[in-house]
Amino acid sequence: MYDLIVVGSGPAGSAAARTAALQGLDTLILEKESFPRYKPCGGALSSKAISLLDFPLPGNICERTITGARVHFRDRVLEKHKGYNLTTLITRSRFDHLLLQKAIETGASLKTQKALNFLEQDDHVSVKTREEIYQCKFLVIASGCQDGLKDRIQGPDRKEYMGVCLVAEIEEDDRRIEERLAGTLDIHFGVAEGGYGWIFPHRGYYSAGIGGLLSHLHHPRQAMLQFLKKNGFSEGQRLHGHLIPQGGNKRRTALGRVLLAGDAAGFVDAFTGEGICYALSSGKIAGQVIGEVPALEVAQTYQDRCKKDFGEELRYALFFSKMMHRYPEIFLRILACQEEVLDRYIEIAAAKMSYKDFMRWLLPRLPMSLLRTL
Ligand SMILES: Cc1cc2nc3c(=O)[nH]c(=O)nc-3n(C[C@H](O)[C@H](O)[C@H](O)COP(=O)(O)OP(=O)(O)OC[C@H]3O[C@@H](n4cnc5c(N)ncnc54)[C@H](O)[C@@H]3O)c2cc1C
Repeated sequence: MYDLIVVGSGPAGSAAARTAALQGLDTLILEKESFPRYKPCGGALSSKAISLLDFPLPGNICERTITGARVHFRDRVLEKHKGYNLTTLITRSRFDHLLLQKAIETGASLKTQKALNFLEQDDHVSVKTREEIYQCKFLVIASGCQDGLKDRIQGPDRKEYMGVCLVAEIEEDDRRIEERLAGTLDIHFGVAEGGYGWIFPHRGYYSAGIGGLLSHLHHPRQAMLQFLKKNGFSEGQRLHGHLIPQGGNKRRTALGRVLLAGDAAGFVDAFTGEGICYALSSGKIAGQVIGEVPALEVAQTYQDRCKKDFGEELRYALFFSKMMHRYPEIFLRILACQEEVLDRYIEIAAAKMSYKDFMRWLLPRLPMSLLRTL
């Protein structure tokens, strides 16, 4: 009988396992892949996300420090930089492997097995893999958004709450990457039916991708090929597709002895697609709550703490995403074409400003900003 079983060792699962094991809980991680494994991702780790780690990130993991953004919309290009780090670029296979090692070093054990099903009983949960049936007092499902286990808690995903992304890692000489982008995230609005495209400067490669709502982006492959061509890349790149939650976080994220964390819970910024930060945060909260509060209070306390820590941010991000889809022309002519607005907006990534504060700052300036869009 384990105190905790965590399914999935992405950022959410490893954070949950490390936090629980540090409190002395007997913790088992079930992960279906052998690490290091590939994960489709832009690899932008915000300063907010880094601040959640209780250990320093080694230099070989941090590939590039990002201080600014170049934003494209129609024929306009706007670039703003700050004098500090907004985001650090990492490669997910290496970053996630480090997080898993950090969980294991605290005493959590790992079995490379796929969780197939679970059954909750009065005082424990049974988790079935092809090889074995394990028992635990609590189960954290951190198996991402493409695995069906989470559906038992929150029902099947709805198309309007899901996004789809396509990403390619395009090898390039570091000198050329430096010349093209250096410390800059390249963001292209208006390329993915209301979503956006990105080109991020990693070490030895670009991450280039597009993402948009499943309900809007009907031909993602075509949109991606156009995006690659327009930006001077060959269309013969290996493309990786992945779903991403975009706005379903109003749903239940815990029931009885089972908690959902990270993408499995829908904890992703619906506007930018940032999810690592909320995966780390929810994983940590899950690990803490299971160690701290009586069994009957775990599910409610977990949901309350997640809501308190980042619920408001996700709500505002969803509002931004809805505005972008409903009034793309006006919204992007303000956000992506007006220097002082972009200058403020990028402070959100550095956790120097919340979405709410940004809105408070923008509202009195909105009439003037709207006039400028005419
Ligand atoms: C193309 C793309 C680009 C993105 N770019 C960024 C970005 O630049 N910055 C950012 O912050 N966020 C980004 N995101 C979002 C981010 O990748 C996710 O929010 C984050 O990975 C969520 O972490 P997680 O631990 O919840 O799930 P995951 O990282 O998906 O990990 C889930 C783990 O569970 C394992 N698993 C699945 N099913 C089972 C099972 N049944 N049994 C055992 N193991 C299982 C998987 O193998 C995997 O290792 C991007 C997403 C996509 C799709």
